[in-house]
Amino acid sequence: MALDPITMLTLSIALAAAASLYLAAEWRHVREASLLFWSAGFATITVGCMLALLRSSGILLIGIWFANGLLVTAHWLFLLGVVRFTQARLWRGWYLIFVVWVGMLLLPEAPWWSKVMLLVNSSLIALMMFKASLLLRPHGKSLSVGAGQLRYVLLGHGLFYLAKAITAAVPGTLIDLAAFRGEIIQISLVEGAIAIMLIALSMTGSERYRREKRIERLAARDPLTALYNRRALEVRAPRLLEDVSASRAGALLLIDIDNFKSVNDLYGHTAGDRLLVVLSEMIRSVLPDGALAARLGGDEFVMLLSNTSSERIVALGNTLRERFHEAASQAFATPDAVTLSIGATVFDQPPASLGALIEQGDATLYESKRGGRDSVRLVDRTHASEIALQTP
Ligand code: GH3
Ligand code: MG
Repeated sequence: MALDPITMLTLSIALAAAASLYLAAEWRHVREASLLFWSAGFATITVGCMLALLRSSGILLIGIWFANGLLVTAHWLFLLGVVRFTQARLWRGWYLIFVVWVGMLLLPEAPWWSKVMLLVNSSLIALMMFKASLLLRPHGKSLSVGAGQLRYVLLGHGLFYLAKAITAAVPGTLIDLAAFRGEIIQISLVEGAIAIMLIALSMTGSERYRREKRIERLAARDPLTALYNRRALEVRAPRLLEDVSASRAGALLLIDIDNFKSVNDLYGHTAGDRLLVVLSEMIRSVLPDGALAARLGGDEFVMLLSNTSSERIVALGNTLRERFHEAASQAFATPDAVTLSIGATVFDQPPASLGALIEQGDATLYESKRGGRDSVRLVDRTHASEIALQTP
């Protein structure tokens, strides 16, 4: 089959309609506004390509100016989708693109009419694609996670349109939009069909990748405190535990609030939740670099550290205990003090498993509770014999 303009346009109509439907179906599923803009962009290309077919019947205003205007509009919608995707804002001056395009109607009929039309159309599209790829560059708040592929596809598309604009500006280049004559028009029709597929795939890919990352992040976190949950700790602990050696002792602290139920009973569940958040923030504030913290459930938290010592763990545990006691006693008056009991284990050999380590911590925590609560009990396993310390 020859790659004549009519065949290529028909192919583009089919591809753009399929892309539009596909993105709309994705939108129905996840309700991300960017997908809706991108779907509308491809629907606009479908209509634009249909109108472009009218050129062969001699309907030039609709077949050229209107059809190319829709191409500009479609890229505008792509840009708006990227703006939504990156949660950016678009300067209002970008609307001038449409003013420029309407201004094209004033072009007098002359032999260079096609060239100017192509030059302006391509420059506007290139500009919008450069802006879109600029918005998709990696930046601070990881807003553009997974957008790398889309960024480069749009950049490549923009560069092609820039090359098209430059070619149109070169004196002597043959461009006849009415008759689809000129090599650049032929190449452009082929690029158009390829770009539809690549852009649509990258758009769905980017949204999906970001969604997966979001779900992954949510699945790893405790919803109330945003600390890791037990499953996420189990995934991350082995790397930290492998690092433990005779010269780099590891430690686990199991932390449980004393008499937490009385806060719930006397002040309500929401007050209890607030106290759990306060404790999680305190844990975060004393957590050394590279250490892990998680909420195991209820009022039980865990900290896992490497390259530490018994002295540092006792100091850290006591800092937490004292700060918490102060905060809780100021916020809630209860018959029995709301304090922290901490069971800590220090070890210099990688343990059999995180589970085994938590069990040891649990036993030490139980001792701490039995010893009167509001205390740090530590079992040091870095020496031949175990040494147990309790403070205060
Ligand atoms: P102990 O001094 O022996 O530790 O007793 P406690 O009162 O602190 O109670 P315990 O640790 O045995 O049980 C934890 C309680 O925490 C049980 C449950 O009612 C409450 N709890 C568990 N999850 C949540 C939560 O997400 N929010 C709130 N507000 N309370 C919770
Ligand atoms: Mg408790």
